[in-house]
Amino acid sequence: MKKLGFGLMRMPLTDPNNDAAVDIEQVKRMVDLFMEKGFTYFDTAIMYNGFASQRVAKAALVDRYPRDSFTLATKLHSGFFHSLEDRDRVFNEQLAQTGAGYFDYYLLHGIEAGSYPKYEQYDCFNWLLDKRAKGLVKHAGFSFHDTPELLDEILTKHPEMEFVQLQINYLDWESEWIQSRAVYEVAVKHGKPVVVMEPVKGGTLAKVPQAAEALLKAANPDMSVPSWAIRFAASLENVMVVLSGMSNVDQMADNLSYMADFKPLTADEKAMMEKVAGIINEQIAVPCTGCSYCTEGCPMQIPIPKYFSLYNEDMRENLEEKGWTINQSYYENLNGKFGKASDCVGCGQCEGVCPQHLPIIDRLKDVAAHFEH
Ligand code: SF4
Ligand code: SF4
Repeated sequence: MKKLGFGLMRMPLTDPNNDAAVDIEQVKRMVDLFMEKGFTYFDTAIMYNGFASQRVAKAALVDRYPRDSFTLATKLHSGFFHSLEDRDRVFNEQLAQTGAGYFDYYLLHGIEAGSYPKYEQYDCFNWLLDKRAKGLVKHAGFSFHDTPELLDEILTKHPEMEFVQLQINYLDWESEWIQSRAVYEVAVKHGKPVVVMEPVKGGTLAKVPQAAEALLKAANPDMSVPSWAIRFAASLENVMVVLSGMSNVDQMADNLSYMADFKPLTADEKAMMEKVAGIINEQIAVPCTGCSYCTEGCPMQIPIPKYFSLYNEDMRENLEEKGWTINQSYYENLNGKFGKASDCVGCGQCEGVCPQHLPIIDRLKDVAAHFEH
């Protein structure tokens, strides 16, 4: 299989304030480009793109291509079932929404210390094997956001799982929080192929500080900044596919340009990437990936990842010199439609679901102090 997958989670929009307003015609063009070049792996989930992703998969892919010409992955999330019967209800809805008939890859979604007990309590691993035995799922796995120790425990208990989906990128590779390298090595130890998520860290590695970009451009002026991030993940031997949440036709074309005939990073290039990661890590204020898991349940309707993104942008600017940036206007525009950072009531819902384990409440205080003065 070619090592690039199309993550249907940050698709282009016709209304920038509505994640579900997907620009289906553009997505169709992206799917066509992807398939033309021989790529076949598509990844969706219940809540991606404001809960529209699975329906878009049907309209842009399933209804337009023979079923055996592509592979489709989707997931059961612990937040969406509340009884044993509910698991089937969710699954049947997914079959109906995608029209796929079966799923090539099916994952228990976002396992971490908080959600893992629920997947066990509701016997989801055996439930998934039953789906596989019935031919409704071809390959069973799970996505994971926690420590290497917990991954080791789960894979030891559930050797029947065929693959794992992990957050791997060159910034998190040695990170104490995400521990990409250590988690990857556990998957290798258990002989499980890895699907990579967040290779560009929610766009963070598409736009890097100037000093980091200068290193990348010096190494190869023709390669885009995000290409290095995708190639870093794809260069790992045990990686089966790298998911990229491509947001427009240009990003798709760029990814295809180097992944169609993929060449792993050389040893020199890997050493250079370590330096680049060091430069970025010094400058990143809030390592949010923009996954939006936190926003659905926020009682104050605070667009948390959008605020973190604006804050990160501003922290990268030379504010003393500029005095003001356009991010301030973006922030105020969002305030008109959603809650402000200072509206946070500290309920903690968001922190409980954040796969990056970010101290969201405290960081929102920083955002408020910065933009609301
Ligand atoms: S802690 Fe604040 S930001 Fe998080 S869900 Fe509650 S109100 Fe929203
Ligand atoms: S704060 Fe956490 S849950 Fe919310 S978008 Fe960022 S990474 Fe995702």
